[in-house]
Amino acid sequence: MRRGIFGGTFNPIHFGHLRTAEEVRETCVLDSLLFIPSGNPPLKEADLADAGHRYAMVRRAVEANRHFSVSDIELLRTERSYTVTTLLELREKYPEDELFFILGMDAFLDIPNWWQPERLIRLVDFIVVARPGFDLADAVRFPFLEEGAAPPPPSFPSPLRLAGGRTAVFLPVTALDISSTAIRRLVREDRSIRYLVPEAVEEYIRSHGLYRG
Ligand code: ATP
Repeated sequence: MRRGIFGGTFNPIHFGHLRTAEEVRETCVLDSLLFIPSGNPPLKEADLADAGHRYAMVRRAVEANRHFSVSDIELLRTERSYTVTTLLELREKYPEDELFFILGMDAFLDIPNWWQPERLIRLVDFIVVARPGFDLADAVRFPFLEEGAAPPPPSFPSPLRLAGGRTAVFLPVTALDISSTAIRRLVREDRSIRYLVPEAVEEYIRSHGLYRG
């Protein structure tokens, strides 16, 4: 089984995430796609909804798609949560599956700042999606490319080899310039977030009074 892993804070999940996931699933012929909302950080961060709320919103957003599901693997962790730990656990849980870690170009370029990046890039293959403001050709700035790896040609998706032998493919997806930051700001300003998030998410935010200030 080809399983996509889509991690994020999902604070809250929005149509930029969902449409990206759908296009990745189709283009990369994934059998299923697992959304993994991050848990609560040890120190409370302003504006970050509780992990239980973020998980509940993802669950509502994906329940109508039979290929999508949500995992509580990071939610239940009490210690600091790292992507490396999550991927090691998932490899154990799904030993037969091919795992693909999906992330936006902004997040991909940030990997060098994550915990144990050189280990992380050896654990799974990557699917990197374009995001407004980030050019797929920015991939050449990634410091862990295989020695001598050619820069990605203009015709994506063509995989780049990472140090250690795993690959990263780069996908143009429908550019939806939506961010969770912008949604939180709209809620704070008491403005509409309709058509930026699924109705069930909008309703959840309203009924739980999230992001009000
Ligand atoms: P915030 O604005 O709070 O930083 P965000 O909208 O970037 O949040 P995250 O939960 O941090 O959302 O993102 C999870 C993953 O989804 C990341 O890999 C990010 O690059 C990707 N992503 C988020 N929004 C989009 C979008 N509109 N199009 C494509 N990818 C996206």
